[in-house]
Amino acid sequence: MGLTRREFFRVGTVGGASAMLLGFDASPVLAQAKELKIARTTETRSTCPYCSVSCGVIIHTLGDKAKNVTTQVVHVEGDPDHPINRGTLCPKGSSLQQDIVNDRRLLKPQVRRPGSDHWEDISWDTAIDEIGHLVKKTRDETFIEKDPQGHTVNRCEGIAFTGGCTDTNEFNYLVVKSMRSLGVCYLENQARV
Ligand code: SF4
Repeated sequence: MGLTRREFFRVGTVGGASAMLLGFDASPVLAQAKELKIARTTETRSTCPYCSVSCGVIIHTLGDKAKNVTTQVVHVEGDPDHPINRGTLCPKGSSLQQDIVNDRRLLKPQVRRPGSDHWEDISWDTAIDEIGHLVKKTRDETFIEKDPQGHTVNRCEGIAFTGGCTDTNEFNYLVVKSMRSLGVCYLENQARV
């Protein structure tokens, strides 16, 4: 027999109440189950990457840090000591573990060549080389020294830069310095961490 979502919650609530009526309280067991899940883990404080609220999270990893061991993220929860969220997380932040441990997560740079209908994996060295060459080529081709009225403007309108939501203020400082030195004026980032 299928259960609707509403029936599922009703059964769950009644089940919990039955446990109370029968003389036992399931909450210590549930609390202990959570403790067992994060027993022996390493706690790392971080910031949820999704939106500009920037809630604090604690990432629990298993692994003894030996060279031949890959640590595994087993649980992510809100940081109760963080001044922004005090341990709470919205549904997106609560699902962070599935974002980290996910076989569809991209771990290498990819490129889609002009005219191609698919993305291909490339190495980090190739990606950095290609980006460097294209930035130089685009800047050389689109740099504007003077506007039509003869004012010196020294700007590059062929490149735009947008930062990610987990970039630190220090990273954004370096981005602004390097992009401005190229003359880039279409520049946006999310300074928050
Ligand atoms: S937990 Fe939710 S509100 Fe907090 S930073 Fe992440 S996405 Fe934003």
